[in-house]
Amino acid sequence: MKKKIWLSSPHMGGTEINYVKEAFDTNWIAPLGPNVDGFEESLENYTGAVHAAALSSGTAAIHLALILLGVKPGDEVIASSFTFSATVNPIIYLGARPILIDSETDTWNMCPEMLEKAIKDRISKGKKPKAIIPVYLYGMPAKIDEIMEIAGRYEIPVVEDAAESLGSTFNGKAMGTFGIMGVLSFNGNKIITTSGGGALISDNEELIKRSRFLATQALDEAPHYQHSEIGYNYRMSNVVAGIGRGQMEVLDQHIALHRANFEFYSKHLAEFEGISFLKEPGEAYFSNHWLSCITVDPDRTGGVTRDDIRLALAAENIEARPLWKPMHLQPVFKDHPFYGDGTSEKLFESGLCLPSGSNMNDEDRHRILQTIINILTLP
Ligand SMILES: *Cc1c(COP(=O)(O)O)cnc(C)c1O
Repeated sequence: MKKKIWLSSPHMGGTEINYVKEAFDTNWIAPLGPNVDGFEESLENYTGAVHAAALSSGTAAIHLALILLGVKPGDEVIASSFTFSATVNPIIYLGARPILIDSETDTWNMCPEMLEKAIKDRISKGKKPKAIIPVYLYGMPAKIDEIMEIAGRYEIPVVEDAAESLGSTFNGKAMGTFGIMGVLSFNGNKIITTSGGGALISDNEELIKRSRFLATQALDEAPHYQHSEIGYNYRMSNVVAGIGRGQMEVLDQHIALHRANFEFYSKHLAEFEGISFLKEPGEAYFSNHWLSCITVDPDRTGGVTRDDIRLALAAENIEARPLWKPMHLQPVFKDHPFYGDGTSEKLFESGLCLPSGSNMNDEDRHRILQTIINILTLP
């Protein structure tokens, strides 16, 4: 069996273990401590957000953000349909209803026109949405200037799901810092990982303070255990935060490597008809290119489909995956309102994520490329 090439696997820089060892040496084996503080500080410095709370996962961060915005049973929350289920699940946790928005074709993220159409329609039906959750898939910023303009006009707060886009910017500003709150994830396959973890970032000190309070079981200040609110156990462990501190030292390197993977694929596959890339649509956009993604048009590839490429790679022990299956097509969400024109459905049917790890070497890249070229040039 040839060596397995993963879509995106953890890539340690080397210093992570020192921070973890420090946690052991000082017995800070707890959901608080110097690594948590240090990791939060480096997230603030890196993103430019004034405050950051390190949490147990990105999903927990979305859940807390919606609680902080007062989302209650029966409320409606707008989200991108083309995403991972973790964007939408917390809406359901709160008994609220997701309103799903289709993608546009430039960035594959939330379509501003559909967003405004949905807001108008929901308001006309008597319910103004409580929040909007845009997502930056595969690292690509959305048309966030247009989304913020619309959200501002209707006075609806924006929570950015930047789980896949740490290090990506729009007009030089970090994704996750446009809305009232932003969400980051450090799950195992993200651009940096803490094995599992997330963060909530915001310029609003009160919101982040409250997120830390709710994430530590909503403990009131008292010598005994006193609770006036329902809490959650969502804080990040100080051991895990040590991994995060080390990973922050190599984040820029990882971004450069992910972007180099994208350059490699797009350069070498440019000559093949029917293969298109998710690429930055203009100067304003800077993507971390977490995953390099293509769409395959069999009418122009001589009949070769997305699945032909995926299966050819699988036969070589190389992992590639279809793009996210939109939430409005998921059995669990299909009965919720959807505003769209078929864009994300088409992307799902024709799109493929190529292996994009920052730890791939030249040999890996050439093995992947050769497999794709072989299937595209089969007589
Ligand atoms: C990974 C991811 C999440 C969830 O983050 P976790 O840390 O795994 O809970 C949310 N949204 C998107 C778009 C993601 O890719």
